[in-house]
Amino acid sequence: MKRRELFSSLASSVKKAAQEKPEQQIRPPYNNDASLFHKECPACDAKCATVCEVEIIKIAQDATPYLDFSKNGCTYCDDCALACDFGVLTLENKKQINATVTIHTEECVSWEGVMCFSCKDPCLENAIDFKAMFMPSINDNCTACGFCISRCPVQAIQVEVA
Ligand code: SF4
Ligand code: SF4
Ligand code: SF4
Repeated sequence: MKRRELFSSLASSVKKAAQEKPEQQIRPPYNNDASLFHKECPACDAKCATVCEVEIIKIAQDATPYLDFSKNGCTYCDDCALACDFGVLTLENKKQINATVTIHTEECVSWEGVMCFSCKDPCLENAIDFKAMFMPSINDNCTACGFCISRCPVQAIQVEVA
């Protein structure tokens, strides 16, 4: 293979790998096409983050929005979708956030026999099951709203990109 062909082939595989790179950020709700965040958001003045009353939408260095559950959760209030002028967030895509929320049993004090309902209280979806008041686990009702995450006193609730 000639030098030029080799470079061209390498460049094309790097580009392909970048395109195939899985989504790393937990994105705001109301989105159905993750590629739009990079295509459209850099031209926007971060309206979604400005209108979010619970202040969970942050803007990354690449000028795309992501969710930060370290202090609060999403109320699915629609405001970010209503504010987005670029078609990235739209009401027709009202759905769960692209995340899976899990209680880690090794860290959870309730799994060690200590009574604790810190995560259950803020969960409006009845998505946390307790077995005889202990051993909580998250069920299919979970909307990944993230409200339980910051309430856990031992950071036993983890969120990952789905
Ligand atoms: S309002 Fe829409 S276009 Fe602007 S940063 Fe948020 S998602 Fe992106
Ligand atoms: S739906 Fe409301 S609370 Fe949730 S991220 Fe959008 S503006 Fe924030
Ligand atoms: S279990 Fe799911 S629905 Fe309930 S507060 Fe936690 S993230 Fe929200």
